[in-house]
Amino acid sequence: MEMKIAERIDRLGTETAFAVSAEAAVRAATGAKVYPFHLGDINLPTPQNIVDAAMKAIRDGKTGYCPNGGIPALREALAADVSASHGVTYGMENVAIQPGGKPVIGKFILALMNPGDEVLYPNPGYPIYESQIEFHGGTAVPYSYREGKDNFVIDVDAIERSITPRTRLLIVNDLQNPMGAEATAEERARLAELAVRHDLYVLLDEAYFELRFEGTSASLVREPGMQERSVLLYTFSKKFAMTGWRLGAAIAPKPVADVIAKLNVNDESCSNHFVQYGALAGLQGSMDGPRAICAALKERRDVCVDLLNRIPGVRCYRPSATFYLFPNVTGLMARLGLDDYEEFRRLILTETGVSFCSRLHFGRPLKGEEERYIRFAYSGIDVDQIREGLEKLRAFVASRIG
Ligand code: PLP
Repeated sequence: MEMKIAERIDRLGTETAFAVSAEAAVRAATGAKVYPFHLGDINLPTPQNIVDAAMKAIRDGKTGYCPNGGIPALREALAADVSASHGVTYGMENVAIQPGGKPVIGKFILALMNPGDEVLYPNPGYPIYESQIEFHGGTAVPYSYREGKDNFVIDVDAIERSITPRTRLLIVNDLQNPMGAEATAEERARLAELAVRHDLYVLLDEAYFELRFEGTSASLVREPGMQERSVLLYTFSKKFAMTGWRLGAAIAPKPVADVIAKLNVNDESCSNHFVQYGALAGLQGSMDGPRAICAALKERRDVCVDLLNRIPGVRCYRPSATFYLFPNVTGLMARLGLDDYEEFRRLILTETGVSFCSRLHFGRPLKGEEERYIRFAYSGIDVDQIREGLEKLRAFVASRIG
């Protein structure tokens, strides 16, 4: 008997980077060498104080259900931490703990979007935005970025042009995956002015807010009129190298935080109880661990950018935050006589073992796109392997195009 899957599932997208991972794993299982640049996972250990606190919590019996919105001590500590880093004031009533940052995306949409509403979202961008907007019956309206002098630049004009009376939500991923782009103070002011003028609710996906190598991060939530209309996506995954622990939070005006906690009741009941004690130790303990994670990633970034820029037909910025690079490979693909992203990706994987995602994995390509981009994540590969892999890539390109 074939089971009929519900029609709504036709509208559900996925994160195809996991499929690239699976393909790379199959290849590695045959004994072939793979250089994993495809997934934003981290091969650095979670800081020991977090591990110890979580283990102690298990031993202390923190193994039953806990409050739906999270343990009060963690909600309080996170509110204080984000208030200090963002220059605004939050209390524990604004925090709804989640099993990761990702669930905030769907819950933000469920809480604030009605079917038929239009939602502006970044494309290329994290693919779950497009998936969740359409799954819940909204219209996904993409906005893009263009190449600037030192990094990609958010196209605020395009956002403004796309706003209609049906636009209800705006999703902003400042410190952006996959491009590593970051808004300037002027762009933040313009985005805030647009959100206020058009009465938009805003998801601020700040998964990489504290994963930066130079300068300081500034949040859109600090702009006038923004705190009361914004939901912040916070995650422990990146800063504390805790991707598999699954812990994050929605930080929002109290009525929205309450709705999100109610969605928790219906979904997972609560986030993992003892993990929250680990996260609490992370927030309140020594910052040596996160600093070491950032230092390791910065070294990888520099090696990766330098080597990529030595390959003919490749042009790559050096973003100050995130652990992603989004090199322009238009010239390289043209010289190899390739137009198809998947053909290019598979050729490089087969010939060199270098595994990466392409623009195709970050939302439906937009009409008129001519430049070609791939995404390198350097969070899951050590410096010596970055060197070895990118040297193989350079040698392969040289053998093909001289
Ligand atoms: N938002 C962005 C832009 C991301 O890149 C990620 C992870 O890659 C997430 C959210 C969610 O991460 P997590 O669910 O591990 O917190």
